[in-house]
This record gives sequence, structure tokens and C-alpha cells, in this order.
Amino acid sequence: MDTAVVWFRDDLRITDNPVLADAVDRADTVLPAYVVDPRRRGDSEYGPAKLGGHRARFRRESLLDLRDSLRERGGELVVEEGRAESVLPTLAAEYDADAVFAQTKPATEELEREHAVRESLPADVELERRWTHTLYHINDLPTPYDQINDTFTPWRKEVEQGTEVRSPLSAPEKIPAPESVESGPIPTVGELAGSETADTLDGPDDRAVLPFEGGETAGKERLESYFWEGDHLREYKETRNGMLGADYSSKFSPYLAAGCLSPRWIHREVERYEEQRVSNEDTYWLLFELAWRDFFQFQFVKHGRDFFLPGGIRGVDKDWQHDREQFQRWADGETGLPFVDANMRELNRTGYMSNRGRQNVASFLVDALKIDWRWGAAYFEEQLIDYDVASNWGNWAYQGGVGNDSRDNHFNVLSQAERYDGNAEYVRTWLPELAELPPEYAHRPWRMGETEQADHGVELGIEYPRPMIDFEDRYAELGRQ
Ligand SMILES: Cc1cc2nc3c(=O)[nH]c(=O)nc-3n(C[C@H](O)[C@H](O)[C@H](O)COP(=O)(O)OP(=O)(O)OC[C@H]3O[C@@H](n4cnc5c(N)ncnc54)[C@H](O)[C@@H]3O)c2cc1C
Repeated sequence: MDTAVVWFRDDLRITDNPVLADAVDRADTVLPAYVVDPRRRGDSEYGPAKLGGHRARFRRESLLDLRDSLRERGGELVVEEGRAESVLPTLAAEYDADAVFAQTKPATEELEREHAVRESLPADVELERRWTHTLYHINDLPTPYDQINDTFTPWRKEVEQGTEVRSPLSAPEKIPAPESVESGPIPTVGELAGSETADTLDGPDDRAVLPFEGGETAGKERLESYFWEGDHLREYKETRNGMLGADYSSKFSPYLAAGCLSPRWIHREVERYEEQRVSNEDTYWLLFELAWRDFFQFQFVKHGRDFFLPGGIRGVDKDWQHDREQFQRWADGETGLPFVDANMRELNRTGYMSNRGRQNVASFLVDALKIDWRWGAAYFEEQLIDYDVASNWGNWAYQGGVGNDSRDNHFNVLSQAERYDGNAEYVRTWLPELAELPPEYAHRPWRMGETEQADHGVELGIEYPRPMIDFEDRYAELGRQ
């Protein structure tokens, strides 16, 4: 074909990108395009914004990096604002394209957009969709996606035994651009998020686990540092429940969510590490976690919209509370339970929270406060730098007891805090007002009497909130986990 438009979505990379590779193989000239679709911003139906400043910043940097990489190969990234189904046909007509190549995503809104684009293209312009974002290719699954097991372990075992991970593709050497491309500026953070306040987000917080610079180049550098320079993969399973510092886990999630890194490329690097350094349970465990990621992606293909129902994919009947004030205290990190507050403040300041933290704050919201799990999921959607629809809503549904596991997954946040933050270093990092407290009080400040409060310079209700409910009582009721 003469010309192909490549519609970049959540695949902001040139290495192992089948959309770009196929377009370059099949067309004489290729026009890479990114659409700033207004439907990605604004408020969600649950209140929080769909796209907050942290992720908008990461996306902007990823786009800048993508544009540079394309330019190095002779290509040029066009950036246009508007609905995909109106921008893409206009570009296709302007450049006389024969096809639009694009990533396909399993989420409902994303699929609707693909269908709208297909409908809006003239009959002689094909929409060529490629499955690009999982470790295992959807067409290689041993069981068709609509019949896969809804429980992770049997699904994983079947896939591990019956499916090969395909080899990652190299980045194209040349990306032949059409003549005279009008590329347009990369939008500001505020323009991407649709909120001026996003542009004025305070600068980076030096307590952040990583600066999380966006883009494929930074993603590859992160892997280089975590696997090869720091040699941390050999202890991944041991350390992955940590909460402080860059290297207790891979921190690949924002790069995977925006498609700056492909899971197949990471898989190949794990294999290389296993050949050159060590192959152990820890090295396998990273692939195990990537299998969790795949699991939720395929679950979304299977169940679609049902994931967003209050009772989730199993139609569980629960009496969810809708108390805005309580919800806001949780979101702001003002509950009076330091382990929850520290995690929420880390999220709000940096866009990231450890997996241990996510499980605990989610359980606190749905089990201790009994607030609708979808409110929590929507708040994470706004804040997370690594937000991904399937990983986020799938994990929230799971935690809310309406997802892929019928067991009770509640966490006793008080015992979790003592187990995973024994010396209260994490809590004191994110709640500096509690920095002088000994660990026991840092985790349970309500146990201080007036004299102790005066001795430690922390007056409850002034320096730090009083507990919003009786946590000791609630967790005695809920039991230990
Ligand atoms: C309530 C809740 C919401 C979450 N929302 C998201 C989200 O929007 N986006 C997201 O990427 N992850 C989400 N997770 C999963 C997990 O917490 C993050 O992937 C992980 O903390 C990211 O840090 P990391 O890259 O260092 O992880 P690592 O421990 O290094 O794991 C490697 C990779 O495996 C994948 N992974 C690990 N755990 C999970 C999991 N439980 N589910 C799906 N994939 C996983 C991620 O892609 C991750 O980058 C959520 C978890 C919970 C409990």
C-alpha cells in the first residue's frame, strides 16, 4: 500500500510494537498519529476526574520521547485534538492513506472508539487492528477467551503449559514519512488532563520512590537499572512487599500501562538475565506477576461491562455505603489511621503506591468503611500514574469481593501495618507530623493519652486527625488477616 496512518494509543513505543512494525512493512510511507481525545479527560460518573496530573505528565513525556524516536528514524508524529472518529478519517483523507493501523484494547470505551473509527473511515480505507499489550497473544491462548477460567491459578497453569510467549519485534530502522507533515505541538499537562490545575501540580516530591520520567527510553533505563546494574531481579519475590525506595519492586507499571515497554520485551530480558545471572523463584515471580496482568486483560475481554457493575462479574449483592464525607477523608489521607493515610498521601503526591499499600487502602475503604468499591476505583483512576482499566478495576473488584475470587480478601490494616512497616519508617516518611513517635504510637496514635500527646508534640485533632471510626473495634470485629 502507499500510505498508512499509525494511530498510537496505549502503545507509546517503537520496540516490539506490531502496529508500527506491520505498517512499516506494508506501506511505502507511514504517518504516526496521536489523538488527544477529549473523552479521556473530564469527570467520571463517580466524581473524580478521569485523568489526573501525574498521569498526564507521564503521558506528555512519553509523547515527547516517542516523537524523538520516530524523528531519529525519519518519521514524524502528528498530534491532533478531537474525537478519534473525526480526526483519523480527516488525516487519512489528507494524506491519501489506504489503511489506519491501531492497537486494539479490551476495555469497553476503547473498543467503542475503535468501532466508531471503523464506521467513520471510507470503505476503501481499512482499519487494521493488532493485539499488542499482553505477554501471551490472545490468539495463542489454549482456551478461547470467552471460555477462560475466571480463577487465576488454573488459568495461569493452563497458559504456562500450553502457550509460548512470542518473540518481541525489533524497532523499525526507518520510518518513511509522507512529504510535508504538519505535526502540531505536544499538549501541555493541563491540556492533556483538561484542567489548568494539573499544570500547576507542585514539583516532584523527593520522597517519591522514583521520579517516573515518562517514555520508552526512560522505561528501558529503568529495566537496565533494576535488572542489570542493581541486580535486583534475583531477590524480587523477597522484596516485592516493600514500601520505601526504588528497588523493592520493578516499577515497570506506568511504562506497561502507557505501552512504553512491552511485556514480551521484558520477558525476553528476564530470560537473558536467567541465562547470564541466575534463574530462581524470584526471576520467575516477575513473570508470574505479568501473568496476573494478562489475566485481568483477558478477563476484561470475556466479561466487558460487567466489571463495572456494583456486584461485579458475579453479581454479588452487597449493601454499599455512599458517604461522601467519609470517602473524602479516605481520599485525602485524613482518616486518622496512619498506615492508610501515609499510603493515600503518597498516592496523591506522586501518583504511585506499592501493591501492599493498594491492597490495604482498598480493603480499608470497602471492608472497614463499606464504601462502594467503584468510588475507590474511580479515585485511583484519577491519581494513578500506572492506571490501566483492567488492572485497576479488576483488582478493585477482587478486593471488593465482587471479582475473580469468591473468598473473603479483607485485610486487617492494623496488623498489616505492624507486619510490613514494623518500625513505622514508611508511616513517618509520609506523615512527618508523626515522625517523633515510637512505632507503636505511630501506627496507633489514638492510644496516646493527653500527657503522651503533649510529650511527643502531637495533639490529635490538631496535628493529626482523630480516628474517623473506632479502628480497634472494627478490626477486632473483622478479624485478623
Ligand atoms: C486496588 C488495586 C489497584 C491497582 N491498580 C493498578 C493499575 O491501575 N495499574 C497497574 O498496573 N496495576 C495496578 N495494581 C496492581 C499492582 O499494585 C501494581 O501493578 C504494582 O504495584 C506496580 O508496581 P511495580 O511495577 O513495581 O510492580 P511489580 O511488583 O514489579 O510487578 C511487575 C508488573 O506486574 C504487573 N502486576 C503486578 N501485580 C499485579 C496485579 N495485582 N494486577 C495486575 N498486574 C500486576 C504490573 O504490570 C507490574 O508492573 C492494582 C492493585 C490493587 C490492589
